[in-house]
Amino acid sequence: MAFDSYTLRNQFPILQQTAYDYPLAYLDNAATTQKPLLVLDAIQDYYRSFNANVHRGAHFLSDRATNHFEQARERVANFINAPENSHVIWSKGTTEAINMVAYGLEHLLEKDDEILITSLEHHANLVPWQQLAFRTGARLRVLPLTSNGEWEPEYQKYFTDRTRIFAATQVSNAIGVRTPLQTMINEAKQYNAFTLVDGAQAVAHYPVDVQAIDCDFYVFSGHKMYGPTGIGVLYGKSQALDVLLPYQTGGEMVRHVAYQATEFNILPYRLEAGTPHIDGAIGLAAACEFLAQQDRVALLDWEQKLANHVYTRLRKEGGIEIYSPEHETTLVSLSVPNIHTIDLNAYLDSKGVAVRAGSHCAHPLMAQLGVSGTLRASFACYNTLEEADQFCDVLLEAIEILADE
Ligand code: PMP
Repeated sequence: MAFDSYTLRNQFPILQQTAYDYPLAYLDNAATTQKPLLVLDAIQDYYRSFNANVHRGAHFLSDRATNHFEQARERVANFINAPENSHVIWSKGTTEAINMVAYGLEHLLEKDDEILITSLEHHANLVPWQQLAFRTGARLRVLPLTSNGEWEPEYQKYFTDRTRIFAATQVSNAIGVRTPLQTMINEAKQYNAFTLVDGAQAVAHYPVDVQAIDCDFYVFSGHKMYGPTGIGVLYGKSQALDVLLPYQTGGEMVRHVAYQATEFNILPYRLEAGTPHIDGAIGLAAACEFLAQQDRVALLDWEQKLANHVYTRLRKEGGIEIYSPEHETTLVSLSVPNIHTIDLNAYLDSKGVAVRAGSHCAHPLMAQLGVSGTLRASFACYNTLEEADQFCDVLLEAIEILADE
């Protein structure tokens, strides 16, 4: 049976509105997803019923808040199949989690060591490594992947005895391709490099098993998987987390403080300075619950079907460059020669279609594709075939109008 996105939509109050009197087609899910009632209610319940600071054990509400907060960690650990709850460190999101690792590993890097990333990375998985390289004298190297996410010939020469860190995205936010993750991780491990996977665009679509991937670090953001903004996860193997120097210091992450020295707390607290984003963690756990309630195979199939529907319709038209693959993707990324993607975006918006135009925080990838930006329609569990058609109809209308100008 096909995935029932039509019924599921009812769990998303924000989608029950029109935009400028047109049906609102929210197709900007790779930027952020909408939130189901389960998540909204969990956050409200926290503030209505047990808001207090955690880890103090000082009173009734604090105990309740602490219990819910640690249960949230457990829920998230289960969601990605982390072996222990303490392997889940809260962060603000993917960006902060990558910065935590880049900062935390700095003390292990020496001049001429190599940090390897791929050519499909979001700036969040590029700039922190580049800056780390500047600070340490290490070299940032870029493993070229084709725009189909395939290896360039001779890719193996990019992994060397000096490769200390290998960081790669699981799915490209800009063009939707999946990278050959497992082969890359296995290759990097032969050189004893630390491995980090950017799962920002993967967690909402693919069931993630960090033990099967066998990476040292796996990072993602709550807001791209139906959870709240301002919360994300740094998962790490214990030996990898153990060597990270804390990116921030202060309260909560300490066991004992004297003026001359500080004894840090155990994991996960050692890497979580200050009052945490309690409602964010609770909301993210509810988002994990929401996804766990879905038939993940049917859900992914549905999202891919919507992207494929758009691909097939637009392919027929000619004159549209499509950068995302035909199959196995949940988004369509395209450009139209001689029409600026920002103009297409504005026209689509005026008819109720929410998409994203621009470089998608991936300037080097755009340069590789030879464009300044693309127009991206990205699908989520609540999108419908009618919305996919609304996007195609309005886009074709826009092309006709704007091409004449
Ligand atoms: N990596 C990828 C692949 C992304 O798509 C994004 C968000 N667009 C990020 C990292 C950064 O995520 P955040 O802004 O939530 O930190």
